[in-house]
Amino acid sequence: MSTAPTSPTPAAAFPGGTILGYPRIGRRRELKRAVESFWAGRSDAVDLEVAAGALRRETARRLVELGLNPDDGSVPGSFSYYDQVLDVVALLGAVPERFRDLLDDEDGSLELDGYFTVARGRGEDAPLEMTKWFDTNYHYLVPEISETTPVSFADHRVVREYAEAKEAGVTTRPVLVGPVTFLALSKAADEAGEGFHPLDRLDDVVAAYADLLRALAAVGVPWVQLDEPALVTDSLDVPAERLHAAIASAYRALATDLTTGTDDTDPERPAILVTAPFGGLHEDALALLAATDVDAIAIDLVKGAAPAGPLPGLEGKTLVAGLIDGHNVWRADLTAKLDAVEPLRALGAGALAVGTSTSLLHVPHDVEDEVFGDGAGTTLDPRLRDWLAFADQKVGEVATLARALAEGRDAVADALAASSAAVASRATAAGVVVPAVRDRAAALTDADFARGSYAERAAAQAARLNLPPLPTTTIGSFPQTPEIRKARAAWTKGELADADYSAAMREEIGRVVRLQEELGLDVLVHGEPERNDMVQYFAEHLDGFAVTANGWVQSYGSRCVRPPILWGDVQRPAPITVEWSAYTASLTQKPVKGMLTGPVTILAWSFVRDDQPLGDTANQVGLALRDEIADLEAAGIGIVQVDEPALRELLPLRRADQDEYLRWSVGSFRLATSGVEAATQVHTHLCYSEFGEVIGAIDGLDADVTSVEAARSRMEIVPELADAGYSRGIGPGVYDIHSPRVPSSDEVTELLRLAVKSIDPALVWVNPDCGLKTRGYAEVEPALAHLVAAAREVRATL
Ligand code: GLN
Ligand code: ZN
Repeated sequence: MSTAPTSPTPAAAFPGGTILGYPRIGRRRELKRAVESFWAGRSDAVDLEVAAGALRRETARRLVELGLNPDDGSVPGSFSYYDQVLDVVALLGAVPERFRDLLDDEDGSLELDGYFTVARGRGEDAPLEMTKWFDTNYHYLVPEISETTPVSFADHRVVREYAEAKEAGVTTRPVLVGPVTFLALSKAADEAGEGFHPLDRLDDVVAAYADLLRALAAVGVPWVQLDEPALVTDSLDVPAERLHAAIASAYRALATDLTTGTDDTDPERPAILVTAPFGGLHEDALALLAATDVDAIAIDLVKGAAPAGPLPGLEGKTLVAGLIDGHNVWRADLTAKLDAVEPLRALGAGALAVGTSTSLLHVPHDVEDEVFGDGAGTTLDPRLRDWLAFADQKVGEVATLARALAEGRDAVADALAASSAAVASRATAAGVVVPAVRDRAAALTDADFARGSYAERAAAQAARLNLPPLPTTTIGSFPQTPEIRKARAAWTKGELADADYSAAMREEIGRVVRLQEELGLDVLVHGEPERNDMVQYFAEHLDGFAVTANGWVQSYGSRCVRPPILWGDVQRPAPITVEWSAYTASLTQKPVKGMLTGPVTILAWSFVRDDQPLGDTANQVGLALRDEIADLEAAGIGIVQVDEPALRELLPLRRADQDEYLRWSVGSFRLATSGVEAATQVHTHLCYSEFGEVIGAIDGLDADVTSVEAARSRMEIVPELADAGYSRGIGPGVYDIHSPRVPSSDEVTELLRLAVKSIDPALVWVNPDCGLKTRGYAEVEPALAHLVAAAREVRATL
């Protein structure tokens, strides 16, 4: 490269606005298709790189078309083949021992093939663990680091992708997870010594980042973005002081010790933008960043607020005001956003720029990709077109705000008026506020959130259900066979009549009931064949929700979800599950468990309205479910399970916010489930095994029976619950459904013995870890047979 590096003017960066990242899966999920075809061996690495390159160029072109400046580093280069945290693992060559053979002998880098192997595992070598990215529904891979993990600037993909965009006419800003957040999110590898924390490797990682920055400067990259969201959470196992010291040390090495060049010297680094998305910064963290020599700082002004200023050091920097919500789908009130800029001036930044609060990775591509009709099926109510802003619309909002800042509000008067009109029309539209729903919520009293004493309930339920000790059941879904999927696809396309679809589902339910009877399970389920997804199914049947046709959002790797949009007051126009459950009950003498998704999970996996407290929305969903449960009870269903797998994942990142969250989330579940008689048994299901901070909440749900994941952790949760004084029914999973492995009945017996050793056997239920929908019958049948055999064996010893 012969072009002289362009030296940015740090004090006035991104005058046209910027975004912190953009969806990378493609508006038609092109990357998903390209990656999956590579995995399946239908295409090779070159084909994949060509497809990904086309997608990256198309993204850069699109962002410029939407108003970002192609020349000054405002366009983020935020592509990833799988995950941005895995990208840093690859950048550093920092793979766990079991994958070291995948590293190139020469430079320690990871080929695409190896990159995916670390993400997905091979044979006995488990992939990196996956966990939730801050408060989003995106999941990242957890790096495993020890004293001996290789760390160097091994992979030059970031440099190549910059050159590729530059060639296409766009100067991108490479985006990477910052060194401190990378290590703060890592876990100590198995071989690490006692007391080792990945942050112990900070100097090595920072040295590798410094090499990367030198390489980027050498090809003329004007800006680089380093994301440090570790600065907004206190849910990590690192004390804030340690994080802050790491930030100071890392950015001394990267920003102070490397120069941005002078008339006589070439730059050693690009200008650095540090971002802190997903919430307000820790106290003093903005001052800490201001005191470093980075060139710009982006803060989240949607979830967080700016501290009072002025802040020493900020005068030489650009403050990127994260005004546009990167994490939800609502169109902004641009006038209000501009008003919010004024107080920021007191911070004394050298310049202010407009940005998004987070990467736009967490929202779909484009509202214009939706079909607007009468709101039935996957057509959207036409009013929503005006109310929504997906990624592309948000880029437009950023550009409009930036122009208003630069040229005054008059320059964008029409856009401001249109945004105010849209926000006003949403506030008053039919369905957004439904007086009957509001009145009902306003009339709720404490009694609506409480059932009678557990002792009384337990006695009434025992008399009614007459179950053996250690009763066996499942979590709800049975395998979704290709036939079920085919029938639903045909029905959705209008190729299968309602009656035929319904008949196909009934037939499936009949099969599932017969199987459960043959296996000897005690409490039967209908198998959930009619559900596409445990949240979308309910969204489709409740007023106040819309479901999109193309609103895909990356969940992890190539996996995408289409979250429903909760836009209005929630009501249940008609019973949803009653017919299926009643039909199931008509086929058997055994008790049948009705199956619902809980209010917190419905909220967590939807885009939720932002114009009222989440707790109010949760109670509306709770009331709709309460009606459904009343109808199930009236139809003779004696057991109802309300799944809340997302209870923990919605837990706020800051401890100060957690109590309030637990209050309303637990409240909405209790509202849903407290309308029933003592003899009706309420179950709940939570999908994970680490309870820590929510153990009190589980107790607070006041369910008669709670099933949890426990097989992998060998029943670890059971003594924990016992210690916490938990004294209602508990179904610790004894069959790990995340693996195709069939556990032997001896294994299950052993797990059950562990369970009954640490908690009163009278409380223990026997069930798998989770639903069976992703498994095949070839595994499920023997696994459930072993589960029943084990229950009988342990039962005999009680
Ligand atoms: N009832 C649901 C099922 O069995 C529960 C799934 C979940 O909790 N994720 O599929
Ligand atoms: Zn589950």
